[in-house]
Amino acid sequence: MKGLRRQAVLYFLVPAAVVAGALALSVPMGLLTVRTEGLGLGHLLLLAVLVGALLVPPVGGYRLTIHLANLLDEVREVIRRFGEGDFSATGLGPAPEAAELRVQMGETARSLQEQLYSLLAEKGQLEAMLAHMAEGVLLLDHKGRILALNPAAEGIFQVRREEVLGRYHLEITHNSELEERLRRVLAEGRSEAVEFTRAWPQEQVLEARLAPVYRGEEQVGALMVIHDITRFRRLERMRSEFVANVSHELRTPLTAIRGFAETLLEGADEDPETRRHFLSLMHKEAQRLSALIEDLLDLSRLESGRVRFQFGEVALGELCHEVAERLRPRADQAGLSLRVEIPPDLPPVRGDRDRLAQVLINLVDNAIKYTPSGGEIRVMARPEGAVVRVLVQDTGIGIPRSDLPRVFERFYRVDKARSRASGGTGLGLSIVKHIVEAHGGEVGVESELGKGSTFFFTVPAAGPTRLPGEE
Ligand code: ADP
Repeated sequence: MKGLRRQAVLYFLVPAAVVAGALALSVPMGLLTVRTEGLGLGHLLLLAVLVGALLVPPVGGYRLTIHLANLLDEVREVIRRFGEGDFSATGLGPAPEAAELRVQMGETARSLQEQLYSLLAEKGQLEAMLAHMAEGVLLLDHKGRILALNPAAEGIFQVRREEVLGRYHLEITHNSELEERLRRVLAEGRSEAVEFTRAWPQEQVLEARLAPVYRGEEQVGALMVIHDITRFRRLERMRSEFVANVSHELRTPLTAIRGFAETLLEGADEDPETRRHFLSLMHKEAQRLSALIEDLLDLSRLESGRVRFQFGEVALGELCHEVAERLRPRADQAGLSLRVEIPPDLPPVRGDRDRLAQVLINLVDNAIKYTPSGGEIRVMARPEGAVVRVLVQDTGIGIPRSDLPRVFERFYRVDKARSRASGGTGLGLSIVKHIVEAHGGEVGVESELGKGSTFFFTVPAAGPTRLPGEE
């Protein structure tokens, strides 16, 4: 290091670009100790440069710091507003250094906004789907506690969401098998389905499907989807009961016909009197069989909605008289008086004339069947607001109170033997009910055992309102 003298050096750091770096100027301190006398132009220039170099950097640096701090504040403000979901704020002032940042912020805002909107849209769709699903959906944690449930689940279990969130599903499902299956789903990570019944608060048949829920690789709980299959099971039961009933109803006359035929074949046909008797019994059973099939087909057409009603204006008073005249011979034969009492100002009704005639025939026919000789049948009609009420009253055997709610059911008979003996199929009143309800009316019965019954139905009076299918 010989020959090198230690000397103080003054460093000036001058910003060369905004962020690219700094220009380092160094002047040996020895130069600053030169005497001022005898300075040449060259010295003075050098001095001016040095003074300038000394003064400019602090002033420029200060301004730059202020400028950067402002920019940072603006960026912070913009990010804060992004956080609040306001993506309109991308203005970073006019500074040219912020231009690139401004463009990037604008793009970030647009992309964030798009992602947020699509997330919100997906969330909205999911919520709408869950809210309008007929199936109950419960999200359970790994211990079987309810994290979320949809309105259908609230309805099925008759609970309120705020009351059951965080509670164990067993507290609302009350089913140990379901719990067992849930444990299996949580332990083995596979889906399960189970059908179970609830007796309270109402009888329900429910089907639960359970599936594991994952967050990444980890299984965090299970999804329980509940279908209320009560109606489905009830319909299934009704259908099989119906098939059993129909088979039974068809078998009865068939067995009788076969029995009579066998008796004839065994020799009863030799006596013309006996033969005639058996043949007439067979004829009656065959008629019953075809009446039953007719009624069954009619009912099935009505129930499946395949019957097209021809709605129009019907003079109901006139129709009551017509039906009464048609059935009068039978009433006379049974020793019954049949009267029709219709006020002259009865308004016309809106309905299908042939189907309304069928209703009246069934009701008057029943009155004849279930009224002992010497009795009286009255067919009456009266206006009641927007409807006309028709009543078929008899002084017959009546119906026990406990049977009243069921007489409109298919095949329901109070006294099976009596119904069969009079050629009844047990379907007449169900057909009546279907037809009246298709007219928008209602049917009913009042009865006292041993005193008589009054069957009634309503039909809308003809007015400006039109029914479906009406010309
Ligand atoms: P059915 O062909 O057996 O008459 P319905 O469906 O017409 O079948 O009637 C069902 C049951 O209601 C009848 O079996 C009978 O027990 C009872 N019923 C109907 N009408 C009367 C009535 N006017 N008086 C007494 N019982 C009646």
